Amino acid sequence: MSRLIHREIRKDPPLALRGEGMLLHDSNGRSIIDGSGGAAVACLGHGHPRVLDAMRAQLGKLTYAHTSLYSNESAEALADLVLGDEPGGLTHMYLCSSGSEAMEAALKLARQYFSEIGQPNRQRFIARRQSYHGNTLGALAAGGNAMRRAIYQPILSDAFSHVAPCYAYRERADGETDSDYVARLAAELEAEFQRLGPQKVIGFIAEPVVGATLGCVTALPGYFPAMKAVCDRHGALLILDEVMCGMGRTGTLHAWEQEGVAPDIQVVAKGLGGGYQPIGGILAGRRIMDALRDGTGTLMHGHTYQAHPLAAAAALAVQRVIREDGLLDNVRAMGALLEQRLVERLGNHRHVGDIRGRGMFWCAEFVTDRASRAPFDPALKLNDRIKHAAYDRGLACYAMGGTLDGRRGDHVLLAPPYIATAADIEAIVARFGDAVEAALAELPVT
Ligand code: PLP
Repeated sequence: MSRLIHREIRKDPPLALRGEGMLLHDSNGRSIIDGSGGAAVACLGHGHPRVLDAMRAQLGKLTYAHTSLYSNESAEALADLVLGDEPGGLTHMYLCSSGSEAMEAALKLARQYFSEIGQPNRQRFIARRQSYHGNTLGALAAGGNAMRRAIYQPILSDAFSHVAPCYAYRERADGETDSDYVARLAAELEAEFQRLGPQKVIGFIAEPVVGATLGCVTALPGYFPAMKAVCDRHGALLILDEVMCGMGRTGTLHAWEQEGVAPDIQVVAKGLGGGYQPIGGILAGRRIMDALRDGTGTLMHGHTYQAHPLAAAAALAVQRVIREDGLLDNVRAMGALLEQRLVERLGNHRHVGDIRGRGMFWCAEFVTDRASRAPFDPALKLNDRIKHAAYDRGLACYAMGGTLDGRRGDHVLLAPPYIATAADIEAIVARFGDAVEAALAELPVT
């Protein structure tokens, strides 16, 4: 029995021994296509030679210097590369070691901003149901992932409240047009501002494409501009969590580029470093940084490993490869193929209710019956069965339950590395389709 605390306590997983390109090789002698890059992390696949070279070069120069005395070349170069053209007016980057840490930093920066500009009464955040912003207590309180919050509810901050996500598949009413649905969601956000007191709200937090919790749910056209208009009306910030959907995953470097809005603060992580090192970050707009510079001059936050040289060197190399190899074009082209093949293989399946996503970020949601959209009994653990059936067929995918409410619903994500070829996509969909059939065939009644 392993001494590590694994995700499942009663079961030791196989060891991942080696990674190369799209493949992971494990201690059972299996070679598995990494069809989801872990949790949408390994955007360049495994063992990318240019990233490894950059990491080795950094190792030979500097592995750590405390940020109270020093900056370092790689962190500076990473911030310049990501923000040199000031996308959406974002000008400054803070680097830490994970998505959750980055979300904590975003929450604190947002709160500090209002303190700096003389609005200390702003003390509340509004986020969305069935969202995920991380597992540390602040980020968990921000998120609306009912399953992950449940046992910690009594120790979560009440500075956060939640409105509905934009989840047209299940939550748009019969006969409601897209624009009526968007208007209803904007009215709900407005009502929440009014309930809290509009001058009390720091910001609205959302994932531009909802990641694992709902399964690659894109917003309807006009949704983000409508939500931003509510924030603007009340002087609150728009905080976009692109930990999972950002840094190229949806076909543009930032997912918000496809939404007609730019955030005041953006949170990034997984695709930033592609898993080569633990790294997350926030991108902040000029007015926020001006307020801090003209005010206390200090971010009241920090971590021992912030702007870590090796993590920054790895992320810098990942971001350079994405640009130099034109990988966003590949994300768009292979993403379109992935969608097409998924629809061909599973689009008419009686237990596939919805196939959705964008770029290289796709998901299938499973139902007992397409007309009623009823979920499977959670005790059947369909999503888990699909994950294991896929693994048995040489495919790693990312499975989740609780789509509807943290308990009911099954969905499975595919998020291939940006380097995937057409042959990889064909293999992923073939294995995934077979796994879905096999898992459903195991159920007592289908
Ligand atoms: N935000 C989103 C949208 C995520 O998907 C995740 C992780 O899945 C996080 C935050 C937390 O990131 P981490 O697991 O690196 O702490």
